[in-house]
Amino acid sequence: MQFADRLNNVETSAIRELFKLLGKPGIISFAGGFPDSAMFDVEGLREASARALQEEPGAALQYGATEGYEPLRTQLAAFERSKGVTDIEPQQLIVTTGSQQALDLIGKTLVNPGDKVIVEGPTFLATIQCFRLYGADVIPAPIDAQGVQVDKLEALIKEHKPKFVYLVPTFGNPSGALLTRERRLKVLELAVKYQTLIVEDDPYGDLYFGDAPPPSMLALSRDVPGSREWVAHCGSMSKVLSPGLRVGWLVAQPELLQRAVMCKQFSDAHTSTFAQATAAQYLKAGRMPATLKRVREVYAERARTMAVALKRELGDAIEFIEPQGGLFFWARLTGAGGKVKDANEFAKRAIEKGVAFVPGAPFFAKDPDLSTLRLSFATAGVEKIEEGLGRLGQAL
Ligand code: PMP
Repeated sequence: MQFADRLNNVETSAIRELFKLLGKPGIISFAGGFPDSAMFDVEGLREASARALQEEPGAALQYGATEGYEPLRTQLAAFERSKGVTDIEPQQLIVTTGSQQALDLIGKTLVNPGDKVIVEGPTFLATIQCFRLYGADVIPAPIDAQGVQVDKLEALIKEHKPKFVYLVPTFGNPSGALLTRERRLKVLELAVKYQTLIVEDDPYGDLYFGDAPPPSMLALSRDVPGSREWVAHCGSMSKVLSPGLRVGWLVAQPELLQRAVMCKQFSDAHTSTFAQATAAQYLKAGRMPATLKRVREVYAERARTMAVALKRELGDAIEFIEPQGGLFFWARLTGAGGKVKDANEFAKRAIEKGVAFVPGAPFFAKDPDLSTLRLSFATAGVEKIEEGLGRLGQAL
């Protein structure tokens, strides 16, 4: 069969090869990117879906508007207002089938083959692949623990004149990094100065362990005159409520939103009305704050456990910065004491010892750092984290 040329732009993921090995019995996996299914508020969602069917069966089971189910748009706007986007109205956002679809719509509406797109190095693998599918030349900007390095980002914007810049500023996947308030403001200034769209992907912003992170770039855009139209913001219910619901949202300026709606229409017509009505009922019932509190506490304990165990078991053979939220540790093998420095090699040895993580190389759009790796603390309980890190120590 003759497939479309655009498929030549994406490789099958190196991570997928590793995931094949995860079926091995007894393996403790830090490899996935899933939230813990034991955290799902099943009772709350059961009630919400029952109410959706009882109170609005026509809407919940019928075709719906591509922009999204109005009561959910209203709830999501209120949710964003509660997080500092004080002036947002429901019509400024559309509901998407996960934030993944919002990213796809951004790619579809903006990228011509050969266009440059700047992302963080490292960044979310599916985004790199998604933008490449539309023919983008994806260019990584270096990050540190405070997120993207703004001076380097500016140089890259000047050099490449990108179609847009894609950032996960709050507890990035895989980096766990948190972009400081100061840098957020600078990035917004760059957006205005170079008339460049900033795509803010924010599925982890609610998952913080201590103090709340700085407001989203969308929220902060009110402090940088002229920047609001240069921010597109992707939100998601996946990490806190349920990824299976496939409810995300996109906030953007009207022209972009209108075109995204047009593309979505030809793609899935609309996000599941049943899922939207359920999410709307859930938010309306006011269960979100308690759910957030619970998941933050559980993940915070797991992250702490992982930080202590990593130090204890791997010592100076590994470098990392303890994340303040999200689901991931991003680490680098130092090679200290002649220990393994190649994360692929280490991943193979780890699997032999019954523990898995993801090597970091695939998360770089270019020039991969082969000594990096990502560990998720989300799905294993604290005992399993201890045990898994013990095995990792042996593998080392
Ligand atoms: N963006 C990032 C950074 C992610 O890590 C994920 C999920 N792994 C997504 C987007 C997609 O999430 P969803 O489509 O479930 O909202």
